[in-house]
Amino acid sequence: MLPSPRIKGWCPGAWRPMATGDGLLVRVRPSLSQLSSQQVVALCDAAETFGSGLIELTSRANLQLRGVTDASWPPLMAFLVEHQLVSDDPEAERQPQLMLVPAWQKGDDTHTIARLLQTRGSELATMPGKVGIAIDAGNAPVLVDSAADFRIERSTEGDLLVRADGYALGTAVSDTDAAVEQLIRLTHWFVATGGWDAGRMRRHTAPLPDWAPADTAPAPPGEKLALGEHREGMVVGLPFGRVAADTLREAVSPVSGSLTSASLVNISAVQVTPWRRLLLQDCDTLPAIDGLIRHNSDPRLAMNACPGAPYCEQASVATQPLAEKLNGWVEGTVHISGCAKGCARQRPAALCLTGRDGRFDVIINGRADSAPVKSGLTENEALDVIKKLSESR
Ligand code: SF4
Repeated sequence: MLPSPRIKGWCPGAWRPMATGDGLLVRVRPSLSQLSSQQVVALCDAAETFGSGLIELTSRANLQLRGVTDASWPPLMAFLVEHQLVSDDPEAERQPQLMLVPAWQKGDDTHTIARLLQTRGSELATMPGKVGIAIDAGNAPVLVDSAADFRIERSTEGDLLVRADGYALGTAVSDTDAAVEQLIRLTHWFVATGGWDAGRMRRHTAPLPDWAPADTAPAPPGEKLALGEHREGMVVGLPFGRVAADTLREAVSPVSGSLTSASLVNISAVQVTPWRRLLLQDCDTLPAIDGLIRHNSDPRLAMNACPGAPYCEQASVATQPLAEKLNGWVEGTVHISGCAKGCARQRPAALCLTGRDGRFDVIINGRADSAPVKSGLTENEALDVIKKLSESR
């Protein structure tokens, strides 16, 4: 039986950094899921000055810096506050995270609801740290697979809809104000009915109240952002959700970039997504920069790799170098996990490699904690097994 990984019940932030294998992890929540290009450059400067120079994009559309020390954390926080990357009020970080659908437009329902919720944030109930809210009020929801406990979406009839995670149907509301009112009320119901014990809405077993009937279907899911041209700019991918600060700076800063077009001068903002992709707004030429994924056919888009060793103290193996070695080797989904917790992918993958006691287990069509077909392999042995499996197909 595989050893149980340690599970921490809280989400790190900037004011509450988490100790990891390579120092403190500081997580920044971009307001409205967007940063100006100047803020992105500031974040890159912060990563290099106060951390290891790596920036990660999480599955909840947060950006995190690694390798921060006890000594560098105070000046880092002052820098992040100065550039409005973090609120100067630590309590603001305790409010649930708002994840906005990418490519929202100023004044549309997604933006309006987010603004209302920012104004009325203190009226939301105080909930467990992992609880989040998806504002996905375009014509068709696209954040359906992304972690959120409460969702504001569009119904098949075009009405706004408030839906609790775990329910296929939600409650139709009349307008943006009503959506926010309903959401605030739902958060108080969640807490009053034992939400703190459940931790997440999906695990909450209390029946929904009469005033929040689950009786209206959301519109069928829409398309996620494809890489390449977009009506708002360009979409690029981050390999395994990670980018070096100088690479990201190059993407948004024409002065230092080896870019092929001066059009990148116009990048106004960067929208973060939960899919390891960034939307560079007002960019009309895709940057040719090593360290960014530019093509939808790139095999790394079908691969998940958690930070692994030395970045996570629960990992006994390095994951990302192995993921790079496997790039293009295997058809279908690939998951490299530093331990059985499987942070990078909760669903099964065609091939999964899970670290255990410094060696790898090989799992076929399973999750990081599924039964392996081979176990206790060195990296080279694991590569041999995978090569043979690929050749036999
Ligand atoms: S899956 Fe990876 S990131 Fe998650 S705890 Fe294990 S080693 Fe750490």
